[in-house]
Amino acid sequence: MTPIFAPACRIDHLSSFYNFHTAVDVLRLDLVHPVVSGNKWFKLSHYLIDAGKNNKKTILSFGGAYSNHIVAIAAAARFKGLKSIGIIRGERALSLSQTLQEAMNFGMELFFISKEAYKEKLIPKEVKTIYPADDLYIIPEGGYGNKGMLGGKDILLKNETASYTHIVSAVGTGTTLAGLVAAAQPHQKIVGISAVKNNFSIQSEVAALLPEGKQHSFEMLHQYHFGGYAKYTNELLQFMNEFFSLTGIPTDFVYTGKTFFAVFDLLKQNYFTPEDKLLLIHTGGLQGNRSLSEGKLIFG
Ligand SMILES: *Cc1c(COP(=O)(O)O)cnc(C)c1O
Repeated sequence: MTPIFAPACRIDHLSSFYNFHTAVDVLRLDLVHPVVSGNKWFKLSHYLIDAGKNNKKTILSFGGAYSNHIVAIAAAARFKGLKSIGIIRGERALSLSQTLQEAMNFGMELFFISKEAYKEKLIPKEVKTIYPADDLYIIPEGGYGNKGMLGGKDILLKNETASYTHIVSAVGTGTTLAGLVAAAQPHQKIVGISAVKNNFSIQSEVAALLPEGKQHSFEMLHQYHFGGYAKYTNELLQFMNEFFSLTGIPTDFVYTGKTFFAVFDLLKQNYFTPEDKLLLIHTGGLQGNRSLSEGKLIFG
């Protein structure tokens, strides 16, 4: 089984498909692994190394029914020979989402808690009685924390990224973005596209993971959420289909579709100059497309 270490990834050049006046490349983290896809692989790696060092046998984390983070943990734990527990927000649905079914197929044990308990990240009593606290390794929701940030840093450090002037990534918890900012060189500008509507506190959540002096060296754009987290419009799906038929690159409707749409829109507005060289981070997440009804996307 492939080990969980941040590897070097392929870079695609969109200039072979489009007549942009600016160079635009895509860093294909989506190709890292079919399940522990994209930025999740990077974000989890330092937590998993730490769990190993501390001899922890069970990984526990939090997420919703469609969480890429949860299924990535389930798969990564399985590869590492560890148990995994998912604390899932809200009541157990009669038929579980494909994401949760897949997590269970990787051996993850699921516990459902109320939205209120979830807000507090309360670990249910049942879990505490079955699993001794000493054995549990808790990864925060979305991998948000210093170790997650270090994984985001690896995305730039383990790939040939020094020549780019702008690095653009989707933003959920901001962990990945913080890592990109931490690893960026002085000539590089980091741009985050929020996948969540009006999530203005993200600015300070990213800053909290950064050393002083780096805390404001990024830009967050909030106008490309398409109605909110995991919401979409026909315009977005049409863009994703067209982008795929030209480039062969699949995107997901929650994060990367919106991010790539944003970049195309910014290019139209001459937000970038011809001297700029853009690197778009394909953060993966393609498994999330399975929650769309069949036929909406021309790729699987
Ligand atoms: C989880 C995820 C993100 C968000 O990453 P954060 O580090 O939480 O900001 C972005 N893109 C994809 C595809 C994801 O699955």
